[in-house]
Amino acid sequence: MTNTEKIFSFIDSYAGTSEELYLEKVIEVCRAWIEGEKQPELSESVTKEEIRRGIQLAILKGMKQHAQPNHQMTPDSIGLLMGHIATKLTENRTSTTILDPTVGTGNLLYTIMNGIDTEVQAFAVEIDDVLVRLAAVIAEILEQEVTFLVQDTLRPLFIDPVDLVVSDLPVGYYPDDENGLNYELMPPEGHAYAHHLFIEQSLRHTKTGGYAMFMIPSNLFESEQAAQLHAFLKENAIIRAVIQLPSSLFQSKVHEKSLLILQKPSEELKTRPEVLLAKVPDMKNKQAMARFLQDVDEWAKQG
Ligand code: SAM
Repeated sequence: MTNTEKIFSFIDSYAGTSEELYLEKVIEVCRAWIEGEKQPELSESVTKEEIRRGIQLAILKGMKQHAQPNHQMTPDSIGLLMGHIATKLTENRTSTTILDPTVGTGNLLYTIMNGIDTEVQAFAVEIDDVLVRLAAVIAEILEQEVTFLVQDTLRPLFIDPVDLVVSDLPVGYYPDDENGLNYELMPPEGHAYAHHLFIEQSLRHTKTGGYAMFMIPSNLFESEQAAQLHAFLKENAIIRAVIQLPSSLFQSKVHEKSLLILQKPSEELKTRPEVLLAKVPDMKNKQAMARFLQDVDEWAKQG
Protein backbone atom coordinates (compact mmCIF):
# COMPACT_ATOMS: atom_id res chain seq x y z
CA MET A 1 0.00 0.00 0.00
CA THR A 2 1.16 3.57 -0.67
CA ASN A 3 1.39 6.07 2.19
CA THR A 4 -1.76 7.76 0.88
CA GLU A 5 -3.70 4.47 0.93
CA LYS A 6 -2.38 3.65 4.40
CA ILE A 7 -3.61 7.01 5.72
CA PHE A 8 -7.05 6.57 4.16
CA SER A 9 -7.38 3.07 5.56
CA PHE A 10 -6.17 4.23 9.02
CA ILE A 11 -8.85 6.95 9.11
CA ASP A 12 -11.59 4.92 7.46
CA SER A 13 -11.23 1.92 9.73
CA TYR A 14 -11.87 4.28 12.67
CA ALA A 15 -14.50 6.58 11.14
CA GLY A 16 -16.38 4.05 9.05
CA THR A 17 -17.51 1.87 11.94
CA SER A 18 -19.50 4.51 13.80
CA GLU A 19 -23.04 5.84 13.62
CA GLU A 20 -21.71 9.35 14.31
CA LEU A 21 -21.07 11.85 11.53
CA TYR A 22 -18.12 10.45 9.55
CA LEU A 23 -16.35 13.84 9.40
CA GLU A 24 -16.57 14.16 13.20
CA LYS A 25 -14.81 10.79 13.47
CA VAL A 26 -12.17 11.95 10.96
CA ILE A 27 -11.50 14.94 13.23
CA GLU A 28 -11.33 12.63 16.26
CA VAL A 29 -8.85 10.19 14.73
CA CYS A 30 -6.70 13.00 13.33
CA ARG A 31 -6.56 14.50 16.83
CA ALA A 32 -5.48 11.10 18.22
CA TRP A 33 -2.80 11.01 15.49
CA ILE A 34 -1.51 14.47 16.49
CA GLU A 35 -1.44 13.45 20.16
CA GLY A 36 0.46 10.26 19.36
CA GLU A 37 -2.29 7.95 20.68
CA LYS A 38 -2.76 6.24 17.29
CA GLN A 39 -0.73 6.52 14.15
CA PRO A 40 -0.75 5.13 10.63
CA GLU A 41 2.40 3.16 9.81
CA LEU A 42 4.06 5.27 7.16
CA SER A 43 7.44 5.17 5.45
CA GLU A 44 9.94 7.73 6.73
CA SER A 45 9.96 9.51 3.39
CA VAL A 46 6.24 10.36 3.59
CA THR A 47 5.50 13.77 2.03
CA LYS A 48 2.98 16.44 3.01
CA GLU A 49 1.20 15.88 -0.29
CA GLU A 50 0.81 12.13 0.42
CA ILE A 51 -0.67 12.98 3.82
CA ARG A 52 -3.00 15.59 2.34
CA ARG A 53 -4.24 13.14 -0.32
CA GLY A 54 -4.83 10.35 2.20
CA ILE A 55 -6.93 12.59 4.42
CA GLN A 56 -8.66 13.99 1.33
CA LEU A 57 -9.89 10.49 0.36
CA ALA A 58 -11.52 10.16 3.78
CA ILE A 59 -13.09 13.64 3.50
CA LEU A 60 -14.52 12.78 0.09
CA LYS A 61 -16.22 9.79 1.68
CA GLY A 62 -17.49 11.90 4.61
CA MET A 63 -18.68 14.72 2.34
CA LYS A 64 -21.29 12.39 0.86
CA GLN A 65 -23.05 12.67 4.27
CA HIS A 66 -22.30 16.39 4.77
CA ALA A 67 -23.16 17.26 1.14
CA GLN A 68 -24.13 20.85 0.39
CA PRO A 69 -23.48 22.22 -3.10
CA ASN A 70 -21.52 25.30 -1.97
CA HIS A 71 -19.40 23.33 0.53
CA GLN A 72 -17.73 20.99 -1.94
CA MET A 73 -14.00 20.47 -1.52
CA THR A 74 -11.97 22.04 -4.34
CA PRO A 75 -10.97 19.19 -6.70
CA ASP A 76 -7.27 18.35 -6.88
CA SER A 77 -6.95 19.02 -10.60
CA ILE A 78 -7.95 22.66 -9.98
CA GLY A 79 -6.08 22.94 -6.66
CA LEU A 80 -2.86 21.77 -8.29
CA LEU A 81 -3.22 24.28 -11.13
CA MET A 82 -3.92 27.11 -8.65
CA GLY A 83 -0.93 25.86 -6.64
CA HIS A 84 1.32 26.03 -9.70
CA ILE A 85 0.22 29.61 -10.42
CA ALA A 86 0.56 30.64 -6.75
CA THR A 87 4.12 29.23 -6.66
CA LYS A 88 5.06 31.21 -9.77
CA LEU A 89 3.53 34.44 -8.43
CA THR A 90 5.37 34.17 -5.11
CA GLU A 91 8.65 32.64 -6.26
CA ASN A 92 10.85 35.70 -5.71
CA ARG A 93 9.70 36.28 -2.17
CA THR A 94 11.48 35.09 0.98
CA SER A 95 8.20 34.59 2.81
CA THR A 96 4.55 34.67 1.81
CA THR A 97 1.30 35.37 3.65
CA ILE A 98 -1.90 33.85 2.29
CA LEU A 99 -5.59 34.29 3.10
CA ASP A 100 -8.28 31.78 2.16
CA PRO A 101 -11.55 33.53 3.06
CA THR A 102 -13.66 30.39 2.34
CA VAL A 103 -11.29 27.67 3.51
CA GLY A 104 -13.80 24.79 3.81
CA THR A 105 -11.80 21.60 4.45
CA GLY A 106 -8.54 23.40 3.65
CA ASN A 107 -7.84 21.11 0.72
CA LEU A 108 -7.22 23.98 -1.70
CA LEU A 109 -5.20 26.00 0.81
CA TYR A 110 -2.94 23.07 1.74
CA THR A 111 -2.38 22.09 -1.89
CA ILE A 112 -1.14 25.63 -2.43
CA MET A 113 0.89 25.84 0.80
CA ASN A 114 2.53 22.44 0.19
CA GLY A 115 3.71 23.68 -3.23
CA ILE A 116 5.30 26.94 -2.04
CA ASP A 117 9.01 26.54 -1.25
CA THR A 118 9.46 29.68 0.80
CA GLU A 119 8.26 30.26 4.35
CA VAL A 120 4.47 30.51 4.26
CA GLN A 121 1.94 31.59 6.84
CA ALA A 122 -1.81 31.53 6.25
CA PHE A 123 -5.06 32.94 7.58
CA ALA A 124 -8.25 31.03 6.97
CA VAL A 125 -11.91 31.92 7.48
CA GLU A 126 -14.90 29.58 7.43
CA ILE A 127 -18.48 29.75 8.71
CA ASP A 128 -19.12 26.00 9.03
CA ASP A 129 -17.98 24.72 12.40
CA VAL A 130 -17.37 21.09 11.35
CA LEU A 131 -15.29 22.11 8.32
CA VAL A 132 -13.17 24.58 10.25
CA ARG A 133 -12.36 22.00 12.95
CA LEU A 134 -11.46 19.54 10.22
CA ALA A 135 -9.27 22.09 8.42
CA ALA A 136 -7.55 22.92 11.73
CA VAL A 137 -6.53 19.34 12.59
CA ILE A 138 -5.22 18.80 9.06
CA ALA A 139 -3.10 21.97 9.32
CA GLU A 140 -1.57 20.57 12.48
CA ILE A 141 -0.78 17.19 10.91
CA LEU A 142 0.74 18.92 7.88
CA GLU A 143 2.69 21.27 10.16
CA GLN A 144 1.38 24.27 8.25
CA GLU A 145 1.12 27.57 10.07
CA VAL A 146 -2.52 28.63 9.79
CA THR A 147 -4.63 31.00 11.92
CA PHE A 148 -8.35 30.22 11.73
CA LEU A 149 -11.35 32.51 12.18
CA VAL A 150 -14.81 30.94 12.48
CA GLN A 151 -17.17 33.64 11.23
CA ASP A 152 -19.00 35.13 8.27
CA THR A 153 -16.08 36.38 6.16
CA LEU A 154 -18.19 39.29 4.98
CA ARG A 155 -18.33 40.71 8.51
CA PRO A 156 -15.27 42.77 9.59
CA LEU A 157 -12.14 40.62 9.44
CA PHE A 158 -9.32 41.27 11.87
CA ILE A 159 -6.54 40.17 9.55
CA ASP A 160 -3.71 42.30 8.16
CA PRO A 161 -3.42 42.50 4.36
CA VAL A 162 -1.67 39.47 2.81
CA ASP A 163 0.51 38.83 -0.23
CA LEU A 164 -1.94 36.38 -1.81
CA VAL A 165 -5.64 35.63 -1.42
CA VAL A 166 -6.91 32.31 -2.76
CA SER A 167 -10.55 31.23 -2.79
CA ASP A 168 -12.96 28.79 -4.34
CA LEU A 169 -15.91 31.17 -4.05
CA PRO A 170 -19.33 30.08 -2.80
CA VAL A 171 -21.79 31.28 -5.44
CA GLY A 172 -25.23 32.77 -4.83
CA TYR A 173 -27.09 35.58 -3.12
CA TYR A 174 -25.90 37.00 0.20
CA PRO A 175 -28.95 37.07 2.49
CA ASP A 176 -27.71 39.72 4.96
CA ASP A 177 -28.74 42.93 3.13
CA GLU A 178 -27.89 45.10 6.11
CA ASN A 179 -24.28 43.94 6.15
CA GLY A 180 -24.25 44.03 2.33
CA LEU A 181 -24.62 47.82 2.59
CA ASN A 182 -21.01 47.95 3.83
CA TYR A 183 -19.90 46.98 0.31
CA GLU A 184 -19.67 49.02 -2.88
CA LEU A 185 -20.90 45.92 -4.71
CA MET A 186 -24.28 45.94 -2.93
CA PRO A 187 -26.77 46.58 -5.76
CA PRO A 188 -29.27 49.47 -5.42
CA GLU A 189 -32.10 46.89 -5.39
CA GLY A 190 -32.35 43.27 -4.29
CA HIS A 191 -29.72 41.00 -2.72
CA ALA A 192 -26.01 41.22 -3.47
CA TYR A 193 -24.13 38.30 -4.95
CA ALA A 194 -22.04 36.78 -2.16
CA HIS A 195 -19.28 35.94 -4.67
CA HIS A 196 -19.03 39.63 -5.62
CA LEU A 197 -18.79 40.70 -1.97
CA PHE A 198 -16.09 38.06 -1.33
CA ILE A 199 -14.03 39.60 -4.13
CA GLU A 200 -14.42 43.09 -2.60
CA GLN A 201 -13.62 41.83 0.91
CA SER A 202 -10.57 39.92 -0.41
CA LEU A 203 -9.17 43.01 -2.09
CA ARG A 204 -9.48 44.92 1.18
CA HIS A 205 -7.22 42.28 2.72
CA THR A 206 -4.65 42.14 -0.11
CA LYS A 207 -1.42 44.16 0.13
CA THR A 208 -0.81 46.69 -2.63
CA GLY A 209 1.01 44.82 -5.40
CA GLY A 210 -0.32 41.52 -3.99
CA TYR A 211 -2.54 39.03 -5.82
CA ALA A 212 -6.01 37.57 -5.38
CA MET A 213 -6.88 34.36 -7.21
CA PHE A 214 -10.48 33.15 -7.31
CA MET A 215 -12.33 30.20 -8.71
CA ILE A 216 -15.39 31.94 -10.20
CA PRO A 217 -18.46 30.93 -12.22
CA SER A 218 -17.48 31.25 -15.90
CA ASN A 219 -20.49 33.51 -16.47
CA LEU A 220 -19.37 36.00 -13.77
CA PHE A 221 -19.17 38.88 -16.26
CA GLU A 222 -22.55 38.11 -17.85
CA SER A 223 -24.94 38.48 -14.89
CA GLU A 224 -27.33 41.39 -14.38
CA GLN A 225 -24.90 42.78 -11.73
CA ALA A 226 -21.85 42.44 -13.99
CA ALA A 227 -21.70 46.13 -14.95
CA GLN A 228 -21.30 47.10 -11.29
CA LEU A 229 -18.58 44.47 -10.81
CA HIS A 230 -16.74 45.68 -13.92
CA ALA A 231 -16.78 49.28 -12.73
CA PHE A 232 -15.59 48.23 -9.27
CA LEU A 233 -12.70 46.15 -10.63
CA LYS A 234 -11.63 48.93 -13.00
CA GLU A 235 -11.31 51.25 -10.04
CA ASN A 236 -9.82 48.86 -7.46
CA ALA A 237 -7.87 46.09 -9.19
CA ILE A 238 -5.78 45.09 -12.16
CA ILE A 239 -7.29 42.10 -13.94
CA ARG A 240 -4.21 39.95 -14.64
CA ALA A 241 -5.80 36.76 -15.97
CA VAL A 242 -9.06 35.00 -16.72
CA ILE A 243 -8.44 31.29 -17.26
CA GLN A 244 -11.28 29.04 -18.33
CA LEU A 245 -11.18 25.58 -16.74
CA PRO A 246 -11.97 22.52 -18.91
CA SER A 247 -15.74 21.90 -19.35
CA SER A 248 -15.14 18.19 -18.73
CA LEU A 249 -14.55 18.98 -15.01
CA PHE A 250 -18.13 20.22 -14.55
CA GLN A 251 -21.57 18.63 -14.73
CA SER A 252 -23.08 21.20 -17.07
CA LYS A 253 -22.46 24.55 -18.78
CA VAL A 254 -24.04 26.57 -15.92
CA HIS A 255 -21.64 24.97 -13.42
CA GLU A 256 -18.49 25.74 -15.43
CA LYS A 257 -15.78 27.65 -13.57
CA SER A 258 -12.81 29.83 -14.42
CA LEU A 259 -9.92 31.35 -12.53
CA LEU A 260 -9.83 35.11 -12.06
CA ILE A 261 -6.47 36.57 -11.03
CA LEU A 262 -6.38 40.14 -9.78
CA GLN A 263 -3.53 42.31 -8.60
CA LYS A 264 -3.99 45.16 -6.18
CA PRO A 265 -2.72 48.37 -7.81
CA SER A 266 0.31 50.08 -6.28
CA GLU A 267 2.27 53.25 -7.05
CA GLU A 268 4.98 51.23 -8.85
CA LEU A 269 2.47 49.32 -10.96
CA LYS A 270 1.73 52.22 -13.30
CA THR A 271 1.68 50.17 -16.50
CA ARG A 272 -1.03 47.56 -16.78
CA PRO A 273 0.39 44.31 -18.16
CA GLU A 274 -1.59 42.42 -20.79
CA VAL A 275 -4.44 40.31 -19.44
CA LEU A 276 -3.88 36.60 -19.89
CA LEU A 277 -7.06 35.18 -21.44
CA ALA A 278 -6.57 31.45 -21.69
CA LYS A 279 -8.36 28.13 -21.72
CA VAL A 280 -6.91 25.16 -19.86
CA PRO A 281 -6.55 22.27 -22.34
CA ASP A 282 -7.72 18.72 -21.66
CA MET A 283 -5.68 17.93 -18.53
CA LYS A 284 -4.98 14.38 -19.73
CA ASN A 285 -3.16 15.75 -22.79
CA LYS A 286 0.34 16.04 -21.29
CA GLN A 287 1.89 17.93 -24.22
CA ALA A 288 -0.89 20.51 -24.42
CA MET A 289 -0.80 20.93 -20.63
CA ALA A 290 3.01 21.45 -20.65
CA ARG A 291 2.65 24.15 -23.35
CA PHE A 292 -0.14 25.83 -21.37
CA LEU A 293 1.93 25.87 -18.15
CA GLN A 294 4.88 27.31 -20.07
CA ASP A 295 2.67 30.21 -21.22
CA VAL A 296 1.46 30.71 -17.64
CA ASP A 297 5.05 30.75 -16.37
CA GLU A 298 6.03 33.38 -18.96
CA TRP A 299 3.01 35.48 -17.99
CA ALA A 300 3.80 35.19 -14.25
CA LYS A 301 7.28 36.67 -14.88
CA GLN A 302 5.66 39.97 -15.94
CA GLY A 303 4.29 40.51 -12.43
N1 SAM B 1 -11.56 25.43 -0.98
C1 SAM B 1 -12.41 24.69 -0.09
C2 SAM B 1 -11.87 23.27 0.10
O1 SAM B 1 -10.92 22.88 -0.59
O2 SAM B 1 -12.43 22.55 0.95
C3 SAM B 1 -13.83 24.64 -0.56
C4 SAM B 1 -14.54 25.95 -0.48
S1 SAM B 1 -16.28 25.78 -0.70
C5 SAM B 1 -16.50 25.90 -2.40
C6 SAM B 1 -16.84 27.32 -0.10
C7 SAM B 1 -16.81 27.46 1.41
O3 SAM B 1 -17.24 28.77 1.77
C8 SAM B 1 -17.74 26.49 2.13
O4 SAM B 1 -16.98 25.69 2.99
C9 SAM B 1 -18.71 27.39 2.90
O5 SAM B 1 -19.04 26.90 4.19
C10 SAM B 1 -17.90 28.68 3.02
N2 SAM B 1 -18.73 29.89 3.17
C11 SAM B 1 -19.89 30.19 2.53
N3 SAM B 1 -20.32 31.39 2.92
C12 SAM B 1 -19.46 31.86 3.85
C13 SAM B 1 -19.38 33.07 4.62
N4 SAM B 1 -20.28 34.03 4.50
N5 SAM B 1 -18.32 33.21 5.46
C14 SAM B 1 -17.39 32.23 5.58
N6 SAM B 1 -17.40 31.08 4.87
C15 SAM B 1 -18.43 30.90 4.02
